[in-house]
Amino acid sequence: MISTDRATAIILELSQALTETETVPLHSALHRVLAESVVSKLDFPHWDNSAMDGYAVRWSDLQAGISELQVVSEIPAGVAPTKSIEPGQAARIFTGAMLPTGADTIVIQENTQLIGDQIQITKPATAQGEFVRRQGDFAKTGEVLLAQGTRLLPAAIAVLAAAQYPQVQVYRRPRVAILSTGNELVQPGDTLAPGQIVDSNQYALTALIQQWGGEPVLLGNAPDNPQELAAMMQRAIDSADMVLSTGGVSVGDYDYVDRVLAELGGEIHITAVAVKPGKPLTIATFQRNGQQIMYFGLPGNPVSALVSCWRFIYLGFQQVAGITHPQLPWIEAVAGVDLRSDGRRESYLWGRVEIKNNRQEFMPVAGGHSSGNLINLARANALAMLPIGQNAITGQSVQILLID
Ligand code: AMP
Ligand code: MG
Repeated sequence: MISTDRATAIILELSQALTETETVPLHSALHRVLAESVVSKLDFPHWDNSAMDGYAVRWSDLQAGISELQVVSEIPAGVAPTKSIEPGQAARIFTGAMLPTGADTIVIQENTQLIGDQIQITKPATAQGEFVRRQGDFAKTGEVLLAQGTRLLPAAIAVLAAAQYPQVQVYRRPRVAILSTGNELVQPGDTLAPGQIVDSNQYALTALIQQWGGEPVLLGNAPDNPQELAAMMQRAIDSADMVLSTGGVSVGDYDYVDRVLAELGGEIHITAVAVKPGKPLTIATFQRNGQQIMYFGLPGNPVSALVSCWRFIYLGFQQVAGITHPQLPWIEAVAGVDLRSDGRRESYLWGRVEIKNNRQEFMPVAGGHSSGNLINLARANALAMLPIGQNAITGQSVQILLID
């Protein structure tokens, strides 16, 4: 059994970024990973413009104490000014509109009174350039706006659009094969014979891979029979960049996954991690045409399988996806009640982090915290971590892994 740190390091050492890329339109770019750094083709803002509705004026007029100016033009957004502003003059201007030449400062309309074609300034601007967004203040031509390896979220997609990139080069989505093992498994909607359960893991993992931005490759379920299992595992290894199987990695008589991995020529790096839930975790690698395929043998218990994914597999997935700095969404919160574990393994309790009394507080969800209890996991948005050697956390800060 190895430590969680060691397991993390091994996963990051073994996972290799995909190199193939594709071009996608921006509407399909969410959660894709940039395969190229995006360099700005223009300045942001593109030209000096007004940050407010008001009047474009000359700072020197204000400094000279002039409080009445003649309004000589109107500049709405999207229209280039045609008149330059001379001493004693102003232009009516609206948010986002280009500053006319001559003007260098905006007096907001709330601080003026319009009488005929004159404005009376009731409260002058306080500095030259007030309420002017200067060309290039936010980014300059040639600047890197988004680095290669960035996972695209809405704000980044908006930047690409604004920077005139109607499509973008991204890495191919990692293909992740998903298979469930166990004689007891049936599909949702099937009649349950005594002793059978529904293969919920397949659905949890498929959804997770979709959420991460990968492409699930569904292989269904294999019985606890080494021959059939081997055939399905081989198909998984042949068809994906990464394999997630659940079940069959424990010490039971029907747990064949590790044995089959070895028979298929896999190199096994890990079989157990000091974590609860999720102790049995097999990590193996296969070579296929120069590519290293990662095989993750997850525990069958639905909670253990998901916790293993959130805590470990996500890092490997990010690296395969081409994300430059794989990270887990750790935060800190205050334990709202006593959190307990046996202290022998790094332990996770599932619950909710919410803002209470101006601080982030973690409360475990009600119900049993056994790795077989999938039902209350669905109410959680976070996992609280109790390190090895710590039996309880009482009213103190606790490390939290966000899972929503
Ligand atoms: P195993 O790791 O194969 O010993 O399975 C551990 C527990 O997880 C058993 O109670 C299994 O019935 C359950 N289990 C295994 N695979 C699945 C699955 N795909 N969906 C839901 N539960 C499962
Ligand atoms: Mg099993």
